[in-house]
Amino acid sequence: MTVVRNPSRPVVDDGHLLSCHPATGAQVGRVRIADRDQVAAAVAAARTAADWWVGIGHAQRRRRLLRWRSLLATRITELADLVNRECGKPVAEAVVEIAAAIEHIDWAAQHARRVLGVRRTRTRLITAEFSGHLEYQPLGVIGVIGAWNYPVLIPIGPIAYALAAGNTVVFKPSEYTPVTGQWLVDTLTEAVGAESVLTAVHGLGDVGDALCRSGVDKLSFTGSPRTGRLVMAACAETLTPVVIEAGGKDAMIVDDDADIDAAAEACVWGAMTNAGQSCIGIERVYALAPVYDAFVTAVVDRAGRLTVGSGPDDQVGPIAVPGQLDVIRRHVNDALAAGGRAVLGGAAAVQPPYVHPTVLVDVPPDCAAVREETFGPTVTIHRVGTIDEAIAAANDTRYGLGGAVFGKRRGIAVARRVRSGMVSINSVLTFVGFSELPFGGIGDSGFGRVHGEDGLREFSRSKAITRRRAPSVLPTMTFERTPTDLARIVKVVKLRYGRD
Ligand code: NDP
Repeated sequence: MTVVRNPSRPVVDDGHLLSCHPATGAQVGRVRIADRDQVAAAVAAARTAADWWVGIGHAQRRRRLLRWRSLLATRITELADLVNRECGKPVAEAVVEIAAAIEHIDWAAQHARRVLGVRRTRTRLITAEFSGHLEYQPLGVIGVIGAWNYPVLIPIGPIAYALAAGNTVVFKPSEYTPVTGQWLVDTLTEAVGAESVLTAVHGLGDVGDALCRSGVDKLSFTGSPRTGRLVMAACAETLTPVVIEAGGKDAMIVDDDADIDAAAEACVWGAMTNAGQSCIGIERVYALAPVYDAFVTAVVDRAGRLTVGSGPDDQVGPIAVPGQLDVIRRHVNDALAAGGRAVLGGAAAVQPPYVHPTVLVDVPPDCAAVREETFGPTVTIHRVGTIDEAIAAANDTRYGLGGAVFGKRRGIAVARRVRSGMVSINSVLTFVGFSELPFGGIGDSGFGRVHGEDGLREFSRSKAITRRRAPSVLPTMTFERTPTDLARIVKVVKLRYGRD
């Protein structure tokens, strides 16, 4: 029996998910839906595989993960084509996404031993006769729940860093991009030469819920704050720790000494790439009064030239989740009804399954278009009098994922004051491809980090070991200490620490 869950996708057919192109409906592939027992079996198999994966050590894991990196690199156009067919993203944008994912696999594989491996620590006064060792051990099996909007880059965030840290992973791809998820699993399995190091379990939200309750050692979730709360509640029942990478409402600040052309070019890409379906997409801009008019004109000029459709050269593809079109329409209509103006696009720009680039100005700050995640190729631009006003407006949100600042003399100072996990200066979104930097948000954007050293440690537990090197000079931790020993301890502590 075929059950159509919403007008076009996803389609559930005889125990399978049918994956289809969001605009044309062309079938991309089908995957079997897992039940709770199969999720449990996948986690059990991953636990067995973890013994082997830990046992082969950093060097062997590095070799195998770099083989996976090379597979992705050599087959990059094939994978970009698949991403294009499954989520409608233009091939060029898919190539950029995959290139960033490859960087992360490479970095995680190359640096895991340095970041997580055994190191000696310095001793202190009362422990001088001991040596200290610190290492980071894998947690075991990591559950990864992925979103559809970057079906390669987003799951590879937790997957690459968790695997490099010595964990195995059970991955639930979004129901909208299961074939891409399976492709990643198949290539990893080929590169590693063993099953169950990375496994996919497919299905709808109930399969994600089963993964949360399956006894994995940590759950990394990417998706909306609403589902993030459900995931956290489910994980709370088994005290399973979570990483939550949720939504955003990122702002760009354009200072009065900014390069306006560069700012406008970056704003258009930051707001409209992937048809605006980016958690770190630019959704609000606060431009200082002296540059506001020139900036709006430059944005409208550039955004107005973007081509919309599913052809090979189109730059703005379809909205991948049908229900999101209603959200975008509501945000635009509500902004216009409240006195906002569309200087590009507007109400008529929503032409399912596409939304044409839309630039809104004079939108009151309490409108949904300013407060809620829109997730479409739209942006609101606001005129502000001072840089303090710009920062306050940018920070007036429950979210706190990324952001951008354009300007010369005070870029860093402004970036530090933006309340978010990441900010780019004179560029947009660059932090996501920066393997050495942690990625993650605050507030409703979630918590925990993927990427960089923090991303490796996120999927590890610290292990502290001390070892006696010599008899104790200051015998502190023993009932054998004499009154003379105690007097010596008091004297030494006073001598060492008693002065300013
Ligand atoms: P959803 O929250 O709808 O879904 C995310 C994932 O959770 C999907 O795989 C979904 O499965 C699964 N899921 C659904 N219900 C449950 C449940 N009860 N228990 C466990 N898992 C469940 O988000 P979208 O996929 O629509 O992604 C869009 C959102 O993701 C946006 O808000 C965006 O900002 C955010 N995002 C955040 C990123 C970040 O790094 N901070 C990056 C990318 C996106 P199914 O698809 O089968 O419903």
